[in-house]
Amino acid sequence: MSSSTGRQFSVEFFPPRTAAGEEKLDEVHGELARLNPDFFSVTYGAGGSTKQGTRQIVLRYKAAGSCVAPHLSFGGLEESELEALLMDYKSAGINRLVALRGDIPSGMGSGRQHRYANELVAFIRKVTGDYFHIDVACYPEIHPESKNYQSDVEFFKRKVDAGANSAITQYFYNAEAYFRFVDYCAAQGITIPIVPGIMPITNYANLARFSANCGAEIPQWLSRRLEMFGEDAESLRDFGTDVVCRLCEQLLDGGAPGLHFYSMNLSRNVTQIWNNLSLAERRLPA
Ligand SMILES: Cc1cc2nc3c(=O)[nH]c(=O)nc-3n(C[C@H](O)[C@H](O)[C@H](O)COP(=O)(O)OP(=O)(O)OC[C@H]3O[C@@H](n4cnc5c(N)ncnc54)[C@H](O)[C@@H]3O)c2cc1C
Repeated sequence: MSSSTGRQFSVEFFPPRTAAGEEKLDEVHGELARLNPDFFSVTYGAGGSTKQGTRQIVLRYKAAGSCVAPHLSFGGLEESELEALLMDYKSAGINRLVALRGDIPSGMGSGRQHRYANELVAFIRKVTGDYFHIDVACYPEIHPESKNYQSDVEFFKRKVDAGANSAITQYFYNAEAYFRFVDYCAAQGITIPIVPGIMPITNYANLARFSANCGAEIPQWLSRRLEMFGEDAESLRDFGTDVVCRLCEQLLDGGAPGLHFYSMNLSRNVTQIWNNLSLAERRLPA
């Protein structure tokens, strides 16, 4: 389904580390493919650790008829290796990428220098021209390594100026943070679509740990409510789904150009949110 005139709805996977995980992801992909998302994306370990895993999943789901966007970073790769990977994707008919600096794995530090995402976008454009649609990451609550709000948006703008077509945000639970960010970006001349990243709520301990690492805030009222559910995973899930659906409603009503779901390789929550929101009907221009 084309997203050129309407909103775009997409779903993210990570490459499983085991054969059982892969089998399960195949099922999840099959279930979510029925929702007909505009594309699936598949994450990439910045140290190159999941290079083959990412490629394998991307090519498999592409062959199954899905539009799939690999995530990509320089990580530990030489330019020639990265160019070969780009050509490989191109020859498989992949035409969309998510370009990142990536998280720097511990132990990667010394010899290799990490390279910022704007350099990667420039490299992709240099090697493959306008062939790929390039998404980049951005942070309504600001990247945890950033000096301040202003510099983070300046660096985001470098990615756009280097040739990014659209952006996907880190997840957040505060719609105001997103709208203020989009307004501030527009004032700085960033006009590409900024699609909110949405994290369904399934497990409070995991979410809290993950959020602390990536700098996404769980508002206090929300963490206190989630804590109340203790071991009652079903009630937490129901409550979390309600919260996330309401967030998505606010975002779409306020003009967000789509939604990108961090599925965590699970189908149930994404499917429920998707159906509750009737996303299939919301693709048309508002
Ligand atoms: C949608 C999305 C998908 C993701 N997928 C993955 C994935 O597949 N694999 C993975 O490992 N991680 C992934 N991440 C996490 C991401 O890699 C981390 O947040 C990482 O720390 C930053 O990546 P970036 O591409 O935003 O980096 P950049 O845009 O390069 O920014 C990194 C930091 O450096 C600053 N900065 C940028 N350019 C410069 C510069 N020229 N000079 C000085 N400072 C600069 C920025 O302000 C920021 O603080 C994803 C995040 C999002 C939002």
